[in-house]
Amino acid sequence: MRYLILSDIHANLEALEAVLEDATGLYQQIVCLGDVVGYGPNPNETTLWVRENCAAVIRGNHDRACAGLDDLRFFNPVARAAAEWTYAELGRENRDYLARLAAGPEAFDGFGMVHGAPSNEDAYLIAPGEAGPELEGMASPLTFFGHTHLQGGFRPAGGAASEIDPYELLEPGADDRLLVNPGSVGQPRDGDWRAAYAIYDGGTRQIEFRRCKYAVEPTQKKIVEAGLPSMLAERLALGR
Ligand code: ZN
Repeated sequence: MRYLILSDIHANLEALEAVLEDATGLYQQIVCLGDVVGYGPNPNETTLWVRENCAAVIRGNHDRACAGLDDLRFFNPVARAAAEWTYAELGRENRDYLARLAAGPEAFDGFGMVHGAPSNEDAYLIAPGEAGPELEGMASPLTFFGHTHLQGGFRPAGGAASEIDPYELLEPGADDRLLVNPGSVGQPRDGDWRAAYAIYDGGTRQIEFRRCKYAVEPTQKKIVEAGLPSMLAERLALGR
């Protein structure tokens, strides 16, 4: 079985549609690592698509916040404004769906899914020092994560961890410990504005990182027209 691994769609419908076109024929099942909504202008469309198409989904911090489960005082002003706008925009069924999503870690078909880190759904795994203890403690040797919007991940390196280069094709053994981030579909932050995702083949165990271009301008226009903070539109073109 081959899986399309998605994370951090963030209500960016144009980026999601481009990924689906780019990945045509490469997968049989789809999983999503959270942050279906927040920041972007199409929360109902992306939530409905995830409801109808993903075999496994876990929640992200923005799903929680936009479904009204979190105290928004701890969000930065831009994320808070976007969460309040999204909460009001979401239809009841979509909001209820997001509110009911499970927290990671979840095990699915032999691999793990978390939004932030195996030990804490809200933790950001950015530096190898943060990933080392997580690689040792996680229940699934191969675990996919998101939250940082940085494509790549971490592998053990002599009692610590080292970064995975997203340009390499991974082929871990059955017992190899890996934390793999497919990158963000809807708001990449690794300096590459193109939508990010990964394909995992459960048979060969190959993991391929992929990027695809999408029409950024229509998304930016919708963000501005919705009255969302303009920096949310600007950052899409920068991949920051
Ligand atoms: Zn996110």
